[in-house]
Amino acid sequence: MAVPKRKTSPSRRNMRRSHHALEVAAFQECPNCGELKRPHNLCGHCGHYNGREILPVEA
Ligand SMILES: [Zn+2]
Repeated sequence: MAVPKRKTSPSRRNMRRSHHALEVAAFQECPNCGELKRPHNLCGHCGHYNGREILPVEA
């Protein structure tokens, strides 16, 4: 079985993991209610998408 010749140092290990951080999710203002929502997603606050009400709001 192939085996690494050298132990990976903490510095090397951490450099490898420097790309592993989670990105912050993108947000846009809903044009209907102004609440922040994910782009290309139904607004969780008013249930609108693309100028139409898709989900009736239960409130
Ligand atoms: Zn909305």
